Amino acid sequence: MSFASLNLAPEILRAVHEQGYTEPTPIQAQAIPAVLNRLDIMGCAQTGTGKTAGFTLPLLQLLVPFASSSTSPAKHPVRALVLTPTRELAAQVEESVRTYGKYLPLRTALLYGGVDIKPQIKSMQGGVEIVVATPGRLLDHLEQKSINLSQVQMLVLDEADRMLDMGFMPAITRILAALPPMRQNLLFSATFSEDIKKLANGFMRNPTMIEVARRNAPAELVTHQVYEVPALKKHALLAHLVKSRDMQQVLIFCRMKRDADKLARQLVRDGLSATAIHGDRSQSERSLALDEFKTGKVKLLVATDVAARGIDIDQLPFVINYEIPNTPEDYVHRIGRTGRAGSPGEAISLVSPEEMDYLHSIEKLLKREITRLPLPLLGGDRETRPPRERESGFQPRSTASALSEEERRERSEQRRLREAKDSGRTRRAPFQPIERTPSVTLPSYPHFDFSKPYEPSKSEPIVDTVAVKPAHPGKNIPRPVGALLGRKKTGKV
Ligand code: AMP
Repeated sequence: MSFASLNLAPEILRAVHEQGYTEPTPIQAQAIPAVLNRLDIMGCAQTGTGKTAGFTLPLLQLLVPFASSSTSPAKHPVRALVLTPTRELAAQVEESVRTYGKYLPLRTALLYGGVDIKPQIKSMQGGVEIVVATPGRLLDHLEQKSINLSQVQMLVLDEADRMLDMGFMPAITRILAALPPMRQNLLFSATFSEDIKKLANGFMRNPTMIEVARRNAPAELVTHQVYEVPALKKHALLAHLVKSRDMQQVLIFCRMKRDADKLARQLVRDGLSATAIHGDRSQSERSLALDEFKTGKVKLLVATDVAARGIDIDQLPFVINYEIPNTPEDYVHRIGRTGRAGSPGEAISLVSPEEMDYLHSIEKLLKREITRLPLPLLGGDRETRPPRERESGFQPRSTASALSEEERRERSEQRRLREAKDSGRTRRAPFQPIERTPSVTLPSYPHFDFSKPYEPSKSEPIVDTVAVKPAHPGKNIPRPVGALLGRKKTGKV
């Protein structure tokens, strides 16, 4: 099949041709005619299958009759809305719309959060036919009345599963309510859970299902491998893999933002070029990190699941799961970053004993066992050094010292935490609560040493009330010391 047989306008075919695409991918071959026939569609497709062009090309085609060079904003109402879960994906989709629509007088706007809303408002005021947005920022525009969705004919939900995971359901419900009921709906998702089906059934009209890969199946061109490795050795193993295999472009996944940052810093200390991308970084930092990674300036990009959505890199050869995800669907998404557009990729997971249950869930979803690779001898392992070197006290540098250094650091950190905890326990003597609120208690008992357990001395007058830890801050209830010591009330002070 050729693009020419898909009834696309010459302007669109020209832009497609410039991209060097010779024939539609399977999802494009199925989705383009269905969308042009005004059907609602549910597309089950991974990123990397060409799904963006699968909905962008027919969307542009359906808007060709409305393309106008008029400068009047009234001639450019919003006619198509594409919602994506992340800013990165929104930016990529918008770029695709611009690329494929470059020969058509249609206007596009990109609306996402984390950046100043004013320029977005200005672009909306000029009139825009195609809006690509993240749900939160679109709601901001709706609230500020800087966008009017009453003429939208097409709605696209891209990576709908992730939108649900990220808790965008309430925002989506509000956005749906702002759209005209008569419209065409396209929903794309790499995985099709029951929740997604429920969402789809709630707003779509008899959707046509288009599925190009086995449901929840990661890209077929990807080789999956697992190293079973203790958590403490993961860093050394990662550094070893990157160095020994001379990996030039690796997307590395962590579960938590702070771990992504920490790992990127450790890798830089190892002399590797690495950076991190996650939701706590500003949009400009994320864009810079992504650009540096795409252009090869930085070889290792450490990402969290959410931040990595929408990262579109042709021929990304390696994805390394430094920590495997705790939901198997996220594994599918992660792996979807490699093996894209026909290029082979490798997905390597470093799995600690604590993560084995997660691995089993992933294998269940994939319906196969992932190949285990033997753990290479890592620097820092005693056996790695030949006996002669061990005897001579030879200390190799590189990963060997990196591991032992790292292990030492982690252990000393753990020891420090343990000690801090223990000493905290010792200090938590009977009057510790008073110590923590000295401004309340100390002025009343200037002679009292609160750091020691209470011992009445003969030389000291017995103070018969002490403040105890207030149940509610601010409500300090005095209790008789005698009662605390089990003495009977005498009626005397
Ligand atoms: P997507 O699944 O939309 O993220 O697309 C994955 C990659 O495939 C993108 O880098 C596209 O540029 C590329 N691509 C899309 N359609 C085609 C096609 N028909 N032929 C070759 N590459 C394509």
